[in-house]
Amino acid sequence: MLIFRKPLENVERPEMLADVVIVGGGPAGMACALRLAQLIDEHNALHSDALLSKENIYVLEKSREVGQHCLSGALLDPRAMRELLPGFETEAPIEAEVSKEAVHYLTATGHFKLPVTPPPLQDHGNYVISINRFVKWMGEKVEAAGITVFTGFAGSELLYEGNKVVGVRTDDKGVDKQNQQKSNFEPGYDLKAKVVILAEGARGSLTKQLVSKLDLARNSNPQIYGVGVKELWELPPGRVAAGEVIYTMGYPLTTKEYGGAWIYGGKDNVISLGFVTGLDYSDPRLDPHRVLQEFKKHPFIANLLEGGKMIRYGAKSLPYGGWWALPALAGDGFLITGDSAGFLNSARLKGIHLAMKSGMIAAQTAFEALVKGDSSAKTLGLYPKRVDQSWIKEELWKVRNFHQGFEKGFYAGMAHTMLQQATFGRGLWARYPSHAGHERMQHLDTLPTDGGAEANLLGDAKGDGKLTFDKLTDLYHSGTKHEEDQPAHLVIQDTNICNTRCVKEFGNPCTHFCPANVYEMVEDTSSGAGAPSATPAKRISLNAANCVHCKTCDIMDPYQIINWVPPEGGGGPNYDGM
Ligand code: SF4
Repeated sequence: MLIFRKPLENVERPEMLADVVIVGGGPAGMACALRLAQLIDEHNALHSDALLSKENIYVLEKSREVGQHCLSGALLDPRAMRELLPGFETEAPIEAEVSKEAVHYLTATGHFKLPVTPPPLQDHGNYVISINRFVKWMGEKVEAAGITVFTGFAGSELLYEGNKVVGVRTDDKGVDKQNQQKSNFEPGYDLKAKVVILAEGARGSLTKQLVSKLDLARNSNPQIYGVGVKELWELPPGRVAAGEVIYTMGYPLTTKEYGGAWIYGGKDNVISLGFVTGLDYSDPRLDPHRVLQEFKKHPFIANLLEGGKMIRYGAKSLPYGGWWALPALAGDGFLITGDSAGFLNSARLKGIHLAMKSGMIAAQTAFEALVKGDSSAKTLGLYPKRVDQSWIKEELWKVRNFHQGFEKGFYAGMAHTMLQQATFGRGLWARYPSHAGHERMQHLDTLPTDGGAEANLLGDAKGDGKLTFDKLTDLYHSGTKHEEDQPAHLVIQDTNICNTRCVKEFGNPCTHFCPANVYEMVEDTSSGAGAPSATPAKRISLNAANCVHCKTCDIMDPYQIINWVPPEGGGGPNYDGM
């Protein structure tokens, strides 16, 4: 029987008092911590009679080391970093400045380069970075600035007084598969904080709880996501220059699905290559990992990769919903930043700079709350107002209807995009509606049994071991490691739905969309399906230790019964260099 992770009851947890707790040590969280440290230093230099301390400001990061769970393309628009640390280029780990970019449209066997790169994808002046290395470097700056980063600690619950957020409970360690304490059990801490800043990345688990509890998305469009599946490759010299950027549209997706690929040239002939598939596709058999493998088989890409070697693998979801999908960003005791809120420009395929800027604005607001001694919604409510007045809004407002325009497919999307560009982001309607991606998944009996035009995107990729890989081979290159003896952190509310309804209606799409082979339907020997002629019943089984924390299952499950919660802190992928 599957046992799922849940907070243990009747456990005494030590309490720690904090001024600010930032949950998540990615670009938003680190920019927030660093800005907060700067503001406190500036304040203390002027007000020796009312000094503020940085001692009780903490960043909670679930990975063993800072940056280990960070994955992105990645291209950095330096705007926020230049505000945060002017001249950062001289010391930050930057792979290359973008010197050349192109967008190609792929057909099944051919390709053509767009004569002009669309403005959102013009990247001169941006930097190719490894987000893992960059965030690691930011983490060093944060610690040097006097702020403590707790690695290996996940936030398992928010603490409330009524509807006010008053802190974060960290995960219990040393809990076995049966949800029982082991001999090395250590209870989590209750960090009682004046301000909690959520910077957990896309589909953050605490953010999800909070948005649902306080109904923070009641005036927003549903958030839409994509999943980026990425490989790092070492190529023979001269194939892709450092600073060269290639985007592709089209193959292997059909005009029904949303998505595209990137190739970024880094140092030492290493390239970042990946495919983002919109998590709003209709065929439940579609497999985003397979999409990447098919993409690599295209002659244009296969020629680029010929003689190269895949060295790393990973996957991560990203929010596409844009401005209209932002939830309420602040309330009593809390602020929501970065991908957790949905600050990403999907037309540019960039969000790191927006995540950082939102973290910096949150820092300013939290700082004022500390000075005033008031962390109520009245003070913290300045954060969304400031976001409104910042270049975050300026950038996102222009593309506020972008992704929704693609709900009816590629051609309609391109027509809407052109119209929106001519009307400063408006298009046909002031606010384009949208639907949650999982709602667009169709029942199997309405789809062609042979897969139709999508046939080569469905089911597992086999892999030839050179150019293409099956999931387990790829997964090996993600460095994923979890303590095996712990309850499953993919909490399925009702496994009967998986075993009876989903198997018939959707064919268990989790066994396809998970890029880490976590979900399997196995023969149910306990069901007594006895008679030799009977088709053995199947039941869901989880290889939770494979999980790369991409959150796709939480997002795309058609019944919305999968809840991703953090595993024991420290577990997860190791995205060194990604
Ligand atoms: Fe991603 Fe869910 Fe699979 Fe983990 S189990 S890798 S979060 S889809």
